[in-house]
Amino acid sequence: MKNKRNVAKQTYYFEKEIHNDCLSCGQDIKHPLCPNCISKAFNLWTKKFPEHKMLKAKLNPLMKHHNHTNAKSKPCVACQKPVHICPLCFTEHLHSLVKEAGLGIRATTQFLFIFNFDFEHTGYSKELEFYGGY
Ligand SMILES: [Zn+2]
Ligand SMILES: [Zn+2]
Repeated sequence: MKNKRNVAKQTYYFEKEIHNDCLSCGQDIKHPLCPNCISKAFNLWTKKFPEHKMLKAKLNPLMKHHNHTNAKSKPCVACQKPVHICPLCFTEHLHSLVKEAGLGIRATTQFLFIFNFDFEHTGYSKELEFYGGY
């Protein structure tokens, strides 16, 4: 916790200039990894499931919406494109898609293990602890 505060202090001044807040939860985007990069990994992971195409189709409107959003934002750490939604909100959305698609507990646990951006352990990682105790 101590370290986190120091990092926040150091980066405060140059972050002030740009719009950093997640459009979904309104929180500062601390780990800017854009939905494009996350969904690339997600689409790769879902390839082994028969629901792959359905998941991709359900994801597309959100991707379009994100990529049409014009705002000064933090650049993605991987591809440098602006990030408007924090990885936690985006993976929470993916999580609900996985559940909706009915991939099963094993797949859901695997998903949570791979795409875990819930660093504060306030969201879906509680579910992960419930399933497998990772
Ligand atoms: Zn968010
Ligand atoms: Zn990216």
